[in-house]
Amino acid sequence: MVKLFIATFGTESNTFATYPAGKADFLDGLWCKTGISNAPVSPWSGPAKVWYDRAAALGWNIVEGLHAFAQPAGTLSRKFYEDARDSILNDLRAAGPVDAVLFYLHGAMVAQGYDDCEGDLVARARAIIGADTKLGIELDLHAHMGQTLVDSADLIVLFKTYPHIDHNDRAHDLFELMQRTLSGDINPTMALFDCKTMGLFPTTRSGPMPRFVADMIDAEGQGGILSLSLNHGFPWADVPLAGAKMLAITDDDPKYAGDIAEEFGRAFFSIRQAAALEFTSMDEAVEIAARSQGKAVLLADVSDQTGGGAPGDTCYMVRAFLDAGITRATFGPIWDPAAVEMSFQLGLQAKTLLRVGGKSEPQSGPPLDIDVEIIFLKREASQESDGTEDVPIGDIAVIRCKGVDIVLTSIRTNVYSPSFFTNHGICLTDKQVIGVKNLFKHTDIFAPLVQTQLYVATPGVCQPDFWRLDFKKLCRPIWPLDDDTLLALQN
Ligand SMILES: [Zn+2]
Repeated sequence: MVKLFIATFGTESNTFATYPAGKADFLDGLWCKTGISNAPVSPWSGPAKVWYDRAAALGWNIVEGLHAFAQPAGTLSRKFYEDARDSILNDLRAAGPVDAVLFYLHGAMVAQGYDDCEGDLVARARAIIGADTKLGIELDLHAHMGQTLVDSADLIVLFKTYPHIDHNDRAHDLFELMQRTLSGDINPTMALFDCKTMGLFPTTRSGPMPRFVADMIDAEGQGGILSLSLNHGFPWADVPLAGAKMLAITDDDPKYAGDIAEEFGRAFFSIRQAAALEFTSMDEAVEIAARSQGKAVLLADVSDQTGGGAPGDTCYMVRAFLDAGITRATFGPIWDPAAVEMSFQLGLQAKTLLRVGGKSEPQSGPPLDIDVEIIFLKREASQESDGTEDVPIGDIAVIRCKGVDIVLTSIRTNVYSPSFFTNHGICLTDKQVIGVKNLFKHTDIFAPLVQTQLYVATPGVCQPDFWRLDFKKLCRPIWPLDDDTLLALQN
């Protein structure tokens, strides 16, 4: 009987955000030490649930470690990282000899003193299990991939879609590759190619990325290619491994893995400009929204999106709505537990002067001091994700100021679906403008509701003008910061 160890440990660390991250961020996300079956269904628990269910159906002996995942945030405290890492490693050691290990990691975790948390964790796991045990990892495509990770694992599979809608599909892929590896059907060999590129590359809009994803999927299973993954990389981290990489897994042929990784990596480099997400200035975006008619215009406040590690409490965009005199608008979320609690104390329909946002770090900017009416309150609220999964968003208060309905949350979150608003008393069909603190994940699901979607370069720790960020450790050259990237790739 196969003995399998599974664990989950992930977050995405924005090293340009100065507010600290630690256990509280995981308690607001996923924190489960009693087996993944006891964890709520969510994108964070999905991969381990897939592995658990498939292994259980095969009658495998399953041993579980910690399952923990957090919204992206600032750099993790060293103590929290080491404690959580050692919890997983101690459980792995206590499990005794195992045939296989499957980890669901994000891939872009940075802690104080650790620029490559995943490389550190997986190398230590390999030292415990020895060379013969098979180790597989699933990563978000916004990862920092390095040779330590590749050398320490047998199989690595990344998401292929952005917005991320395939975390469970890729978990199935990895499980099947692991099964075939354990049975001796395949001998996976991996290679990584550095594309010397950074940026944001949506896969579901028009442009070259849907074709690139389809080409990867078409090639898998052909001529000894077992798996292909494009790591887009996470741009808001000043670490040596940041940037896009192409990973190929072949069957017992490391040289071919290298050739295929380079072929696909160069193909991606050639489409990088056309594939990259484009941004609009805030002045232009608000002007477009203010004169729009018909269906709503959706503006994404990309630089303060919690999905990129920002705190989620800046008020620049909602201030611009109010200054422009837009009166049929909604905006959310703004992370402000204190304002939420004050709203609960005051109660529904109360009218008050309230200080909103602008609290958690220097780049949170000034707060908003506004006269509001409290129009909706709910404890332990949630929103739908992927049609079925309910993601908790803590306690919420909806406040109204001059026709702008603002959603305040007690935990850091972003908008997964229209239910973020409609679950909480907000009608979207009568709005002229919808503002979300998101980067891109809302795009497809909001498309039927809106006439235009703009990605707005607001101030904040995820601002998309990369040349304004103070990179010190990032490996250069890298596009779009450097002109000679192509020369470096041609060598
Ligand atoms: Zn991601």
